[in-house]
Amino acid sequence: MRSHEAGALHAEGYGGPPLYLPYPQDVMALLPQLWPESVRRDDEGRLTVAGLDVVTLAHEVGTPAYVIDEDDFRARARAFRDDFAKPFDAVTGGADVYYAGKAFLCTAVAKWVAEEGLSLDVCSGGELAVARRAGFPAERVGFHGNNKSLDEIRAALDYGVGRIVLDSFTEIQRVADVATELGVVAPVMLRVTVGVEAHTHEFIATGHEDQKFGFSLSGGQAFEAARDVLERDSLDLRGLHSHIGSQIFDTGGFEMSARRLIGLHARIADELGHHSPEIDLGGGFGMAYTSQHTPLSPGELGEQLADIVGRELKVVGDGDLRQVPRVSIEPGRAIVGPSTFTLYEVGTIKQVDLGDGHTRAYVSVDGGMSDNVRPALYEADYSCTLADRSSEAEPMLARVVGKHCESGDIVVLDEWLPADLAPGDLIAVPGTGAYCRALSSQYNHTPRPPVVAVRDGEARVIVRRETIDDLLALDVAES
Ligand SMILES: *Cc1c(COP(=O)(O)O)cnc(C)c1O
Repeated sequence: MRSHEAGALHAEGYGGPPLYLPYPQDVMALLPQLWPESVRRDDEGRLTVAGLDVVTLAHEVGTPAYVIDEDDFRARARAFRDDFAKPFDAVTGGADVYYAGKAFLCTAVAKWVAEEGLSLDVCSGGELAVARRAGFPAERVGFHGNNKSLDEIRAALDYGVGRIVLDSFTEIQRVADVATELGVVAPVMLRVTVGVEAHTHEFIATGHEDQKFGFSLSGGQAFEAARDVLERDSLDLRGLHSHIGSQIFDTGGFEMSARRLIGLHARIADELGHHSPEIDLGGGFGMAYTSQHTPLSPGELGEQLADIVGRELKVVGDGDLRQVPRVSIEPGRAIVGPSTFTLYEVGTIKQVDLGDGHTRAYVSVDGGMSDNVRPALYEADYSCTLADRSSEAEPMLARVVGKHCESGDIVVLDEWLPADLAPGDLIAVPGTGAYCRALSSQYNHTPRPPVVAVRDGEARVIVRRETIDDLLALDVAES
């Protein structure tokens, strides 16, 4: 399902800007909710992050570059940790926050996550290798995925991860086999498909749970999976897990999924005599890419979810096996997304006549779908701003596009930029921390941009830029 709403919001007629993007009062204004906390403009209009201006930064590291505000990332991580711990301590055995590494992971970020007291979700051997290299505490690592290989399972158990989330009956057998082979007991959770799917502003309850992830709740499949796990000495059932979608802006979907998970938790307690100490509600909390998005804060999410879980636990009542489980969540996007912007240099500019006196400027930058495939993949919306100077020029309607050989290679579908924009200017696209570097490619043999962390006025490359030599190194030439 395409979760995009710009289609419906686009104004009729000449193909002008969407309704959420009116002609701006001040084309240089920054919407604070789209940018890392420390981003400002200096006296010359240059964007600065943690006190460092982007002209100097571009000089040092080149463009395109992903620029991450380290303190902003840490603050968002801490906010989730603290704002969930407090309300959940009151109604459950407490809360843990697993940063979903698939949104963006490298060794430095794994270390920040560990230092801020969060746990870490990985979903491949590669992500696990990063956690391992960062020395991430093994018991705080969760391992996901619907088709983990035997080698990946071995690596996870060898490292001693705190939980493996099981996704199918095949996998119950596989993990049990590897645990037996290694002589360990594997801590596992069951991923339950609760029949709730949430995207952006709405959620739907789906009857048939027709998707690749997890054990269906309907038909008793998830319950049978629990029985299967409990019959094996090499597996320790820690609890139930569900993840209902992404870029979610309200808690209605979580209410439905918590109700269903807790119902199953109680049934496992009653009928199988097992108390699972954990419940995981997954991630998917929304963030703002443009002015059309109004995400809940971690504080609001923590309060609302603790309230929901507390209510549902009351419904199933207390008793022997009703000791209240510990709850975990798995935010990725909401932590790393807003902490990062992409810095590009403007190349060519052309004007297209849209009729009735309207024009659109096509502004080409030195990256594109290789460093941010989300517009092409999901019709995702972004915004951008002139970053290297001030301008008094009139706003012009622009579409920022990449340098790749596809007309769908769009970075920002609609934005107002000053009409004196020129080749060599820098523009910055906020909100690119999640699923941009992670989903990047080398399309058109384009070396991938670096990730640069800025803190206290200093830039530090945490993932270096790829080079043409890196690309050629994989290409086994005939000799
Ligand atoms: C993708 C994913 C997440 C994180 O989703 P975000 O939208 O980045 O918060 C969390 N848990 C699971 C199981 C996922 O697949």
